[in-house]
Amino acid sequence: MDVTCDVLVVGAGPGGCSAAWRLSGLGLRVLVVDRESFPRDKVCGDGVAPRAVHALYGMGLRDRLRGRFQVIRGVRFHSTKGGVTEVRYPMGGHFPDHAYIIPRRELDRLLVERVREAGVEVREGCEVLSPLPSRRGITPGVLARAGEETFSIGARFIIAADGPSSTVGKALGLLYHDPRYLGVSVRCYMKGARDVSDFLEIYPEDAIMPSCGWIFPVDGDTVNAGVGAMLYAIRGRGINLNRVFEDFRLRTRHAAAKLRDAEPAGRLRGAQLRVALRGSRPGRGNVLLVGDAASTTNPISGEGISYALESGKMAGEAVRRALEEGGGNALAEYAEGLRSRYGAYFRNGWLCIRFGNNPWVMNPLIRVTSLSERLGNKMGRYLMNVRRSDRPT
Ligand SMILES: Cc1cc2nc3c(=O)[nH]c(=O)nc-3n(C[C@H](O)[C@H](O)[C@H](O)COP(=O)(O)OP(=O)(O)OC[C@H]3O[C@@H](n4cnc5c(N)ncnc54)[C@H](O)[C@@H]3O)c2cc1C
Repeated sequence: MDVTCDVLVVGAGPGGCSAAWRLSGLGLRVLVVDRESFPRDKVCGDGVAPRAVHALYGMGLRDRLRGRFQVIRGVRFHSTKGGVTEVRYPMGGHFPDHAYIIPRRELDRLLVERVREAGVEVREGCEVLSPLPSRRGITPGVLARAGEETFSIGARFIIAADGPSSTVGKALGLLYHDPRYLGVSVRCYMKGARDVSDFLEIYPEDAIMPSCGWIFPVDGDTVNAGVGAMLYAIRGRGINLNRVFEDFRLRTRHAAAKLRDAEPAGRLRGAQLRVALRGSRPGRGNVLLVGDAASTTNPISGEGISYALESGKMAGEAVRRALEEGGGNALAEYAEGLRSRYGAYFRNGWLCIRFGNNPWVMNPLIRVTSLSERLGNKMGRYLMNVRRSDRPT
């Protein structure tokens, strides 16, 4: 091997940085590689929910977030005929009483900086091309490229946090291409939006169903606006998401009132989401997939940053135990952790989207929950996956 380490983390997004953070300071040689150079853009709604805020504060980022980014006080769900349901944080559980909007260019840069400060080596502009051939179920390392140079990296464990198209996961046959568990979303920064609030504004409006839209405040009258839908719906109904975005911007009842006069402050860009733990397997042998690579995105809300941070921490913890205490099966422990923590909710959440994401359910649901604070909170907690008794990972 040209380079060796104890743990190789592929991808320096929230999942990879969280895993690396968990493994830092233990005397292990941890190497993080990312094909991009930071700061870099990442197509996202930039909504950092309280669950994610908790994880980021746990990584010592509290002072770097406070006062610098848009604070969010709660969530509003807008339906075309059923009105608006407003739910304020804290919704329950042991999470902070606020969220943030943090452009991923900034969030991921801060995460990389934090991991480096913790003593972890991060190589930017270093792309993993493929895992090396397995020997008795163990992947000894990867082939990587930085600039003109191609080289091998040997590792005892590999944590693949390389996003929904995971190069490592794909090469090991761990990704499924099942449209039931893949989503696609597009987003655009827009300047000059009206009535910008400090809430996550979510629009399951009739004109764009079965897609759902959002408007998240970034800074002043600049917002992150987007729409997303599941791939089976996109294919089944021949949906063009760019056109849906135009309908969202111009022809919805509530969202268009805010966006009609706004101007794009960048390109409309899209990306895939892998949801509900069903679009991939959690790993093989000494390789653990985390975050989007492991399909940890919430199928209802499309929220994935929290779960990337949490699954990264869980993978880091399982690997730490295996390396420090010897023996044990890191992958089995990690996979069981994912299943027990998210399995039931993700399964039910996926069913909710499959059968409830239409105007006949959404309008009456939002009508009823808008009239009762108790029911509104209940719905908010469910859609955002916050249980009263929830304890962060
Ligand atoms: C349009 C859209 C809107 C969204 N909005 C929200 C939102 O508001 N809130 C929320 O919580 N979630 C949202 N999500 C989901 C969220 O973006 C993801 O769940 C989250 O980024 C997952 O983090 P990750 O670390 O697993 O992967 P990523 O953030 O994708 O990071 C993967 C990293 O791996 C690197 N990489 C990839 N391949 C290689 C390779 N071969 N070699 C080396 N490096 C590699 C990439 O450069 C990248 O830095 C949204 C997603 C989309 C598409």
